[in-house]
Amino acid sequence: MAPSNAPDDPETRTFEATVEDGGGEVTLSETYFYPAGGGQPADRGTLGGHDVLDVRTTDDEVVHVIDGQLEAGETVTGKIDPEFRRYCMRAHTASHVLYGAGRRLFDELGYGGFDIAPEKVRVDFRTPTEIDDDTLVELERLVNRCVWDSRAVSWERLPREEALACDDVAFNTKTEEGITGETVRVVEIDGWDAAACGGTHVPNTRRIGPVTVLNRSNPGEGLTRVEFAVGEGAIDRRATEKRATVEAAGAIGTNAESLPEEVRRLEAEIDTLEDERDELRSTLLGYRIDSIAADGFERDGLRWAAGVVDADTNALAEAVRDRPGDIDVLLLATPNGQLAVGAGGADASAIVEELTETFGGGGGGSPEVAQAGGLDTDGAGLVDHLRG
Ligand SMILES: [Zn+2]
Repeated sequence: MAPSNAPDDPETRTFEATVEDGGGEVTLSETYFYPAGGGQPADRGTLGGHDVLDVRTTDDEVVHVIDGQLEAGETVTGKIDPEFRRYCMRAHTASHVLYGAGRRLFDELGYGGFDIAPEKVRVDFRTPTEIDDDTLVELERLVNRCVWDSRAVSWERLPREEALACDDVAFNTKTEEGITGETVRVVEIDGWDAAACGGTHVPNTRRIGPVTVLNRSNPGEGLTRVEFAVGEGAIDRRATEKRATVEAAGAIGTNAESLPEEVRRLEAEIDTLEDERDELRSTLLGYRIDSIAADGFERDGLRWAAGVVDADTNALAEAVRDRPGDIDVLLLATPNGQLAVGAGGADASAIVEELTETFGGGGGGSPEVAQAGGLDTDGAGLVDHLRG
């Protein structure tokens, strides 16, 4: 029994063969079904009219797990699901193209792993190069350029030593796929990439169609995982990204090409406006404190000023630090009753302690500046209490 004919003859989708081992796990005189391996999933299809549930290699035999039973000696027709096979051929070849693009962009590149799933494909690059967003865009551009260039894809078996001696051939050392045995199967994309591989491929890169990089992650030390889509997934992802870009550009009244520049300009404008806003707030707070100070009162032989200010607590703490000269104790409260106290000639933290004993809540600070919150009164109630 020979291994699967699928890698060398990936276009044959219907074939006849004799059942050798019968039952629900069938071996055949020959097969064009691809057994799961080297990152490529098993073919789907039917055998003798039964659905093929799985195809795997067991003890060098290709075993077809079917939804039914077949008798040894029967002649059966195998039908490979053409759509899924076509997807795997395209996705698999795309991974070689991606690796070839990586050769042009990354230092000390090594092969880290590969996997085809129905929606996306991943390739793990082993490289010290940090793969940033720009590099990812360039990687995708090179891949699609190679697809457009219509490079021939070929496969042949080379004596093992010859293939291993060739520096330009990438090996999937993780699974040892294609490098065990007397000969090594080498898949070559003309002028672009060569790799030891036992999978099914398209004969020309143009048959891959559009490729879209989806994302990147780091599955381990020195490894970068790049996920990409071919076919429908690639086309849909591009449309989604394009729609988002056009919508974002439209929202700020520019076009897609000018979007980054326009976003940077808006960021700078926001920074300037925020600075202006903070300055105005601080000026307003100053006016408000002046008016609170003008309405000061005597308490325990000290000159007090207290009032409600609509500002955040950090601004309050800053403000009470610079009391007007004739005020010994300045207390500023937010409308909901958070407060800051600045004091000279009195202990601000002791004042906070006294207030939290009366109204609950908690706080603390130094003799110069203290803060409190969670009191069972609002800002106006607090000021009324202090004024007596
Ligand atoms: Zn391959």
